[in-house]
Amino acid sequence: MPEQTPSQLLHDVFGYETFRGAQQSVVEHVSAGGDALVLMPTGGGKSLCYQIPALVRAGPGVVISPLIALMQDQVDAMVDLGVRAGFLNSTQDVGQRRHVESAFVDGELDLLYLAPERLRMESTLRLLDRGSASLFAIDEAHCVSQWGHDFRPDYLELSALHERWPDVPRIALTATATEATKAEIVQRLNLTGARHFVSSFDRPNICYRIAPKNDPKRQLLQLLRTEHPGDAGIVYCLSRASVEQTADFLVANGIEALPYHAGLDTRTRTANQARFLREDGLAMVATIAFGMGIDKPDVRYVAHLDLPKSIEGYYQETGRAGRDGQPSTAWLAYGLSDVVQQRKLIDTSEGGEAHRRRLSARLDAMLALCETVECRRSQLLGYFGEHSATCGNCDTCLVPPQSWDGTVAAQKLLSAVFRLQRERRQKFGAGHLIDILLGKKTDKVIQHDHASLTVFGIGTELRETQWRGVIRQLLAQGLLAVEGDYGTLTLTGASAAVLRQQRQVMLRSEPERPARPAKAAKPRRAAAADLPVAAAGLFEHLRAWRAGVAKEQGVPAYVIFHDSTLREIAATRPASLADLGAVSGIGENKLAKYGEQVLAALSTAPGQQA
Ligand code: ADP
Ligand code: ZN
Repeated sequence: MPEQTPSQLLHDVFGYETFRGAQQSVVEHVSAGGDALVLMPTGGGKSLCYQIPALVRAGPGVVISPLIALMQDQVDAMVDLGVRAGFLNSTQDVGQRRHVESAFVDGELDLLYLAPERLRMESTLRLLDRGSASLFAIDEAHCVSQWGHDFRPDYLELSALHERWPDVPRIALTATATEATKAEIVQRLNLTGARHFVSSFDRPNICYRIAPKNDPKRQLLQLLRTEHPGDAGIVYCLSRASVEQTADFLVANGIEALPYHAGLDTRTRTANQARFLREDGLAMVATIAFGMGIDKPDVRYVAHLDLPKSIEGYYQETGRAGRDGQPSTAWLAYGLSDVVQQRKLIDTSEGGEAHRRRLSARLDAMLALCETVECRRSQLLGYFGEHSATCGNCDTCLVPPQSWDGTVAAQKLLSAVFRLQRERRQKFGAGHLIDILLGKKTDKVIQHDHASLTVFGIGTELRETQWRGVIRQLLAQGLLAVEGDYGTLTLTGASAAVLRQQRQVMLRSEPERPARPAKAAKPRRAAAADLPVAAAGLFEHLRAWRAGVAKEQGVPAYVIFHDSTLREIAATRPASLADLGAVSGIGENKLAKYGEQVLAALSTAPGQQA
């Protein structure tokens, strides 16, 4: 191959016109032999940062990745672009490994994907000695951080790369943004001399929405039916049981959904993951065990039916939506029971007091995000130390929430808690307290003679759901606390100021109907949402063609073409191979391989004949 510049490779191999963000500087730096630490959000385009230097430099680039289950797909995607790629991991038999090893030694590979545990083997080190690696790319580099959430012991071996091959440039990449993790990567991988490339962590194409939880499964169904019919997405639930129930519920309501959690046997889990990646438009209902490294670009929504434990987790999970840059939704349903449950989990968690305080602080930040009346995105990015203006693409920007003076309501509720505690030495959960405020003569109220309390029936100006909202927000603001296994409510040090009229309490109004961006209200696939009607039909036709090709080859649909590429084809209707080659995402190899088929598919699409 004659020597090609990074820009030529970007165009000819990947079919893209321009580099994104920091890509070009990273590519130039690493191609010239420099070490780099790259922090980019999910979907930012990290892969090109090592793929292109690997093509520019002589010898194969070695990519260390913990995502063994995805290596085959990654390699398939490269091969489909005409890049010579292979992988080595424990899923292969000896014959397959030998084959890849000799290709590596003979310099017949551009990219070698390597599972980190292989670096523990002397044979792998000798293999690397025999070949001449052009660079080491350390993907998911935060796995080296022992205090992070994804620690992989094998990653500690990666410091050996630098000691044994000091002249081979290294590029470490991660989407984990916190300073502490970054510092640990630099230290453990001995990357002190590396240049740092830190991108904005904003994901402007994701619309962040947090809704009060009423009937979460119905709310979810509504969201999927009206805004994401036929789209692929991930639904996160806290427990295995709720994963199963939610998946069953969706299936019973005509939505193709699969469960994924650690309680399923490995075969089922692998099969479900493979189907999610390969087929179009499936809903994956999962615990957070699902998702690490899922690089499916066309996940159109990520829904949380339970409150995440931290903003770090929430941002990482929602970040799996819209890697391809197309409009996507991050939707979270959040209610009083979530706060009670999470507090309980923290109270009963293993580990010392300091650990519980840390968990508590993380939860508080998450609650503040849920209750904010400000732009969600500014708040999210602010958490990661990044300043931003209001975004116009989150629920609070689209439908600004009203706040109201909840001081009197808070006083009523807190004094009910106070009287029960002081006068009766009793503590109760939210449901019973609300019955008292509403003056409901339930069995429990009668049994405890609560009708004689001075606070009985003093809260009839609010409905039950509104009272739940008040309690939830008082919990989030630290004016009320939950304790014990029964989720009983109790006062905090800060409650007294409210009771003594020394503190005003502002609360967020609960919308009667959930806020939803008007533009997405039409029941169209989000992926086709902003295409004209005729082009949307063509897009679906092309997707059907792609599904057939993907199935034949046994690869995920996005390995053939991304949605964004099909959209552009549908919108511009190229009439010749030359026109088709100008579409973003179609490089020389793809054009040669699929060009005629795409043109044929275009000419046979219903209603397309001239
Ligand atoms: P990350 O690993 O950072 O999550 P990827 O490397 O998977 O992101 O890239 C995300 C998506 O963006 C992929 O679909 C990729 O093909 C696409 N992409 C990356 N760089 C460019 C570019 N310069 N122009 C157009 N698309 C790009
Ligand atoms: Zn906003």
